[in-house]
Amino acid sequence: MQTINPTATVKSIPMPDFRGPQGQKCIVSIGWHVDGESGAIASDPRAVNHLTALSEGAYGVSAALPRILDMHRSLDIPGSFFFPGYVADLHPDAVEAIAAEGHEIAHHGYLHENCFFLDKEAQRDVFLKGIAALERITGKAPVGWSAPTWGVKPDTLELLCELGMIYDCSLMEYDMPYLLSTPAGSLIELPISMVLDDWQIFGASPFPGGGVNATAETAFQIWKEEFDGMRRFGGFFTTTFHPNLMGRPGRLNMLYRLFEYMKSFDDVWWATCEDVAQYSRSQVTANTNIMN
Ligand code: ZN
Repeated sequence: MQTINPTATVKSIPMPDFRGPQGQKCIVSIGWHVDGESGAIASDPRAVNHLTALSEGAYGVSAALPRILDMHRSLDIPGSFFFPGYVADLHPDAVEAIAAEGHEIAHHGYLHENCFFLDKEAQRDVFLKGIAALERITGKAPVGWSAPTWGVKPDTLELLCELGMIYDCSLMEYDMPYLLSTPAGSLIELPISMVLDDWQIFGASPFPGGGVNATAETAFQIWKEEFDGMRRFGGFFTTTFHPNLMGRPGRLNMLYRLFEYMKSFDDVWWATCEDVAQYSRSQVTANTNIMN
């Protein structure tokens, strides 16, 4: 048993032998962070009137999401779409369209708040507002969360437990899903990686003039290498993709090629984050009584 913070209120418990339902040691969940207009406003509240910055985020919902959904449909790939409640409130039709295709709608704050800078009660307000926004549209409360700007504290994880969420998708300690034990209960951690975060390659300031432009081929090579390594050593391949970045025509064109390559192997489990978390829970409860 290891700890992930010096105060030891949260313990991480690995599941190194975790495999998919058919024994797959490579598990793929395609995660999208639909930040929309919230990214610009969270970084500078004055952006609420900055039409250029807002439109850069809105592009991800208005222009990119429909063709991203087409890709998921045509390649038969399940997706997990993390929405700030504010973006869901602005674009309820987009949330409905995604849910109607059977994909997961998950929690990503209300206005893309960084929980690291909020006390527990302020975080609770944000979580409840975000859950309410998503539930109003889909009729279902989200069961998982990914941290805006990767801000997570021990009391954030406690809150997730207190609010009945079953997984977090923000930490990075292991290759495979693992268990987080907090004073308020346990969670499945679905580990992310900066390697699979498009922001590290294509990150762009919503305010004109900032940003990085790598070639799509660079991303293809990095992500193919990671996938090939996970098929060999075992791992959970979950992406942090932003529709305004990866939904650009040249990059989505590459993503078809990457996913067609990944789909050519039959020893990989493709599932939503929710499905992986539920399955992980069933494995934990079958093997131990640590889950509560
Ligand atoms: Zn985000």
